[in-house]
Amino acid sequence: MAVPEITETDIRFYDRYLRDALPERMMDGHAHVWYADDVLPEGSYPPRRSAAWAARIAATNPLADLLETYRRMFPAQSVTPAIFGNIDTSTDVDANNDHVSADAHAHRLPALAVTRPTWDAAEFERRIDAGGFAGCKPYLNFADPSIPKDDIEIFDFLPRHQLEVADRRGWVVMLHVPRPGRLGDPVNLAQLMQIDRDYPGAQVIVTHIGRAYALADVGDAMATLERSEHLLFDITANTNSDVMRLLLAAVDPSRVMFGSDLPIFGLRGHRVVEDGRYVNVVPRGLYGDVSDDPSMRETDDAGSLTMMLYEEVAAFLDAAESAGLGHDEVTAVFWDNAARTYGPVAATWTARP
Ligand SMILES: [Zn+2]
Repeated sequence: MAVPEITETDIRFYDRYLRDALPERMMDGHAHVWYADDVLPEGSYPPRRSAAWAARIAATNPLADLLETYRRMFPAQSVTPAIFGNIDTSTDVDANNDHVSADAHAHRLPALAVTRPTWDAAEFERRIDAGGFAGCKPYLNFADPSIPKDDIEIFDFLPRHQLEVADRRGWVVMLHVPRPGRLGDPVNLAQLMQIDRDYPGAQVIVTHIGRAYALADVGDAMATLERSEHLLFDITANTNSDVMRLLLAAVDPSRVMFGSDLPIFGLRGHRVVEDGRYVNVVPRGLYGDVSDDPSMRETDDAGSLTMMLYEEVAAFLDAAESAGLGHDEVTAVFWDNAARTYGPVAATWTARP
């Protein structure tokens, strides 16, 4: 079950920091949906190149669970998601894309196709059109397995011939930057600026603020990114208000949007940064044996922990206040910016989840 149980601590946190600060209508630009049928048998898939803990949070996330999660977590808000599949290597990508496409049509939600770099331009365009998708979610797990994980570059999983199509069609590209240097990595920054310059029609969202979860991951990136004109950023899975403040100082808030990364960020925990690296402090035993994962640490003081998605939203509200954002700009981060990016389908969604 991917739906979080709401605790007294959660209710207190929501009432104190979020309930009245968030707009009634919210758009979540980044949520994952997948079903048991979309998961390949154990042992039949390649090793993952993403954070191992993310695969421990939920075994599936049917759309019904996602909508129930919003209802529980944001009882005073109505949340419209943009959905796409799981990007774990255990996923049957084609089956998952089909399920996401069917859900998106049934509920009139915007959705992205999980795409492979091996598709030529025609196949890329045909598959996205066939599923009625608003764009693509490429991922480093799908780069050529012969490339060592730390050497993967953006164009290894988001080739230029696919960016050309996205540029021409005005499609959304949900981009998770690779490499251990994260947002501040010079190769990443150079390629992000090339994308900004060469594909202005593509709506490229640098997700998780380029995985800059610690201040050390930002480096000098903002001095470069403040010269970009089109790149968008989502705050998904980021709880660092200092990083968010730097982002808001570098780019116009109209290029920043909310995303949840549910079900992964339904994680119960508190994120700390130590020696420039993040650690998720989680209730002992809740996520199985995490003793081999340097990004996870267990605590016996579980009662004080809320969900990391609440921490993300609170961190942004904090950053927005320090950056002097007005009410309308904050509302835009939680609705308008994602609704504009995903296009008319987002605006037609009227059912309250
Ligand atoms: Zn995600």
